[in-house]
Amino acid sequence: MNEKIYSIDSKKFCEILMNIAECFSANEEYLNWLDGQIGDGDFGTNVGRGFRKIRDLLQQRKDVEQLDIGTILHEAAMQFMQVSGGASGPLIGMMLLEASKTMKGKKMVYVNDFIDMFSSMLRAAKLIGGAEVGDKTIVDVLQPVADEVKNIVEKEKDIDMVKLFELLIQVARMHLEKTISMRARKGRASYLGERSVGKQDPGATAMYLIIRTFYETLNGRKGIKIVEYSKSTGAIIREEYLATTK
Ligand code: ADP
Ligand code: MG
Repeated sequence: MNEKIYSIDSKKFCEILMNIAECFSANEEYLNWLDGQIGDGDFGTNVGRGFRKIRDLLQQRKDVEQLDIGTILHEAAMQFMQVSGGASGPLIGMMLLEASKTMKGKKMVYVNDFIDMFSSMLRAAKLIGGAEVGDKTIVDVLQPVADEVKNIVEKEKDIDMVKLFELLIQVARMHLEKTISMRARKGRASYLGERSVGKQDPGATAMYLIIRTFYETLNGRKGIKIVEYSKSTGAIIREEYLATTK
């Protein structure tokens, strides 16, 4: 039986952000390959650069454990937006910024905090990018995940984070695969029209990896690397755990 986790502190939250950086480094080529299929091939490099900048800041600042989560997310947003370009740079940057507002002054994240955290990220993504479900973007994973968090936490008042994220991974994975058959209606992939059909969306894939990293970190692991994927659709075939050095 896994240990039940009902809250995490600033230290653990920083560990999750740093593991997301590790995860994007490990999957940079895969994400670039996905973006190369329906875009310009820079997505993995973009998000990787952004999260590594966040990791560098967290490693440099000796006081992170004393900071509240809102401040950590605010700093993270600023770092991310400084270095991450493309369509995804400002998009993910604003998602982090909106999430930071929901955690202002809070030194612990409780299960129900994820309701506001995810819905604020969704709001930011929709506002900046104007995408809705079905447009083949990050929103195609973020919307069902934000909805599911609300549903589960309101229904099961005593659910713990490990169980919550276990359920969220399933939702994210299912909706990620749905992006394969979608035609892109936003961003660079939309220029391809019908030819964007049949490929998995890189931004939605990144969202899945972020949710997955939350889950793996809560379980004492670093994250995952996609070691095999379909060369036709980009669908994930095989994942491996990243080595834990701690
Ligand atoms: P580009 O290189 O085209 O400027 P990136 O490679 O940084 O963009 O990001 C591509 C990803 O960004 C896509 O896979 C998609 O998920 C996401 N994206 C693009 N446009 C939008 C949008 N308007 N709203 C939400 N997500 C978007
Ligand atoms: Mg790109």
